[in-house]
Amino acid sequence: MGPKKTGATKRRRKESLKGEQEEEGERKVDHRAGGMRKKRGNNKYIGAHMSIQGGIWKAVESCIEMGGKSFALFLGSQRSWNRPPLDQSAAAKFQEQLSLQGFDPAHVLPHGSYLMNCGSPKKDVFEKSQALLIDELSRCNLLGLNLYNFHPGSSLGSITTEQCLENIGRAINHAHRQIPTVITVLENMCGQGSTVGGKFSELKGIIDKVRDQTRVGVCLDTCHAFAAGYDLAADGGVKSMLDEFDQEVGLHYLKAIHLNDSKGAARKN
Ligand SMILES: [Zn+2]
Repeated sequence: MGPKKTGATKRRRKESLKGEQEEEGERKVDHRAGGMRKKRGNNKYIGAHMSIQGGIWKAVESCIEMGGKSFALFLGSQRSWNRPPLDQSAAAKFQEQLSLQGFDPAHVLPHGSYLMNCGSPKKDVFEKSQALLIDELSRCNLLGLNLYNFHPGSSLGSITTEQCLENIGRAINHAHRQIPTVITVLENMCGQGSTVGGKFSELKGIIDKVRDQTRVGVCLDTCHAFAAGYDLAADGGVKSMLDEFDQEVGLHYLKAIHLNDSKGAARKN
């Protein structure tokens, strides 16, 4: 599903929400509630993927220590399909920390489980993925979060891309019906193997299948885009990628950016 973080695709992870660059001077974090986030003229929210080890609320604390203004996190173990439910008191503590530190929930972007493949041609995997998606969205609700980012899926080479996109759309619609509010944010992929989402047209293909399009968005991963063929290192590379994204998908769907560098060359896949 995801790119293996080995060899050429190994990279440092830096995840940010709607913000590409930040000037040095703006990095200082104001620990007063809402201080930094209310700063006029500063609408860039930069952070990283934070660990939830020791308790999910620890992610908020670690982000503050790091000087971040937004963060990503996993919502449970990445190794298990059947995780124990999210502890209510831990979720309450997370929300308390979030509000104490002045975070807008819209600047927190949970990352989906790598086990999930909502595009899977295998019935059992599809059903387990659909159930996991519902579980993840319900965790977002419990944490007071309204965005959820995940890797769209893979055809495993045994169904067409279109059929894979249909499965993903079906899983999203099903999850939306079960769980209110949360926006499902599709991540662009590097186009490796039979993974879908490397082409913006594939992301649009999924969005077109979602009934409530106010509840779908995109997170652009720069490392994935680079590997998929967008030469972001070239002059005008970022602009041309964003222009193409706007044309094929629509910039209003862009909810976040995973700002990663890459050890591999452009168009690796
Ligand atoms: Zn990802």
